[in-house]
Amino acid sequence: MTRLAQTHGLTDVQQEILATVRDFVDKEIIPVATELEHRDEYPTQIVEGLKELGLFGLMIPEEYGGLGESLLTYALCVEEIARGWMSVSGIINTHFIVAYMLKQHGTQEQKDTFLPRMALGEVRGAFSMSEPGLGSDVSAITSKAVKDGEEYVLNGQKMWLTNGGSSTLVAVLVRSDEGHPAGAPPHKSMTTFLVEKEPGFGEVRPGLTIPGKIDKMGYKGVDTTELIMDGLRIPANRVLGGTTGRGFYQMMDGVEVGRVNVAARGCGVAQRAFELGVSYAQQRHTFGKPIAQHQAIQFKLAEMATKVEAAHAMMVNAARKKDSGERNDLEAGMAKYLASEYCKEVVEDAFRIHGGYGFSKEYEIERLYREAPMLLIGEGTAEIQKMIIGRRLLEEYRFQG
Ligand SMILES: Cc1cc2nc3c(=O)[nH]c(=O)nc-3n(C[C@H](O)[C@H](O)[C@H](O)COP(=O)(O)OP(=O)(O)OC[C@H]3O[C@@H](n4cnc5c(N)ncnc54)[C@H](O)[C@@H]3O)c2cc1C
Repeated sequence: MTRLAQTHGLTDVQQEILATVRDFVDKEIIPVATELEHRDEYPTQIVEGLKELGLFGLMIPEEYGGLGESLLTYALCVEEIARGWMSVSGIINTHFIVAYMLKQHGTQEQKDTFLPRMALGEVRGAFSMSEPGLGSDVSAITSKAVKDGEEYVLNGQKMWLTNGGSSTLVAVLVRSDEGHPAGAPPHKSMTTFLVEKEPGFGEVRPGLTIPGKIDKMGYKGVDTTELIMDGLRIPANRVLGGTTGRGFYQMMDGVEVGRVNVAARGCGVAQRAFELGVSYAQQRHTFGKPIAQHQAIQFKLAEMATKVEAAHAMMVNAARKKDSGERNDLEAGMAKYLASEYCKEVVEDAFRIHGGYGFSKEYEIERLYREAPMLLIGEGTAEIQKMIIGRRLLEEYRFQG
């Protein structure tokens, strides 16, 4: 059978990794995902399995104990995992972004300290830009770092940290005017701090509190939290890259690969929704035949499959562009925008195909229906993607009159 979302030109190693991940998803994730999700339970056993497979170090260079794989391999693994349960891909995603930022921008000492333990999944990453008053408008960040001798003192409140409780290393973006002219533009006066902490909730380090889990409509299992800094003291050698004022660029670089990742999650969830829809449509009978034999339902399946294929192709294109060393913000923005919108639509169609049963918690599509909207928001909303796409188009197609 020709399956949807095939990727041409993969190496033997990539194919082997993907086959292993797919097998793990089918055997270890899909059978338990809905039950764990309904209990909002952290998938500890699944995470241990992912560690054993080496997935926490998939893109970390081999010299630091990782597998040194490409963004494409990573994205295809994420697609498989999200097909099983989107929350599990969320557990890996922030870890992957922080490891990527360290690899690209960290000092040698920072790489040596964190990357080997991140590859093993012993140190687990989260990243924090958003605050209660802002998400899209990162330049409006109000949390602040002030230099005090060889340390910085951080104050402020952060919001929406995926893995905020379970992580042990948080990349936190704050304002730090030190060393920069007064009134420097926001993107030149922000710094990323590497904040180590204990996992869990409450005061996890002097001056740092993780209050508790935010109760969410979907994307359960994975913890999403606030983070409160009250006189948090961080040594100067934990400024990412060693120099203040570069945090905005570092975070935007991280978010760019994160967008390919969110696109991959949209592809995975849409694939699963299609699988559920096409299976149910052949089992449910109305008016004397399986509903799959009604043209209206076949048209739905055709539209769903076309969207799955299109989103997959754009996601693969964006990952390959980044792997080739080229700028990929346009492609990543387009892939993220299209894959998340299509994911929501494919899930909605699969839900409709299920009739009343789609509304029952006994059916997996109910979970997917609550998960898909997160992808419309995380790593930048549709409006923000369209702003990025629009700006880049005007650069490429500058009027030469
Ligand atoms: C489950 C979950 C997990 C998350 N995890 C993380 C995380 O790990 N780390 C982190 O830092 N953040 C995280 N976020 C935050 C997420 O990145 C933000 O929610 C997102 O960027 C949107 O920001 P906002 O919620 O403040 O919405 P706002 O920025 O207030 O936007 C509200 C609405 O206005 C629109 N809008 C805003 N500005 C414009 C404009 N200029 N033009 C047109 N429309 C506009 C938006 O598109 C949106 O529709 C998470 C969010 C959720 C829900």
